[in-house]
Amino acid sequence: MFLDRIHTGNGIHAEQHAIMRASPRRLRGHGITLTVAGKRKENFLLSKPCSVCLALAIKHGIETIEYLTRDGSWETLKFSYNKKL
Ligand SMILES: [Zn+2]
Repeated sequence: MFLDRIHTGNGIHAEQHAIMRASPRRLRGHGITLTVAGKRKENFLLSKPCSVCLALAIKHGIETIEYLTRDGSWETLKFSYNKKL
């Protein structure tokens, strides 16, 4: 899942839009990586998901979030979840 942080035009962040459009059973437990990048003219934008998008990603079991930083490098957040018994 690769997202460009261009507004979707409906007032929600691209991350939320993508997560809400995906089938929940195809997210949790499938090793999904959410990748977020933004650029304005020649400058990279800090693309770390906001607290709302982060909470939504965790709620849906997304395991890895990669986001672009202002210097053009990537940061990674990893989450692990308990498997169903
Ligand atoms: Zn957000």
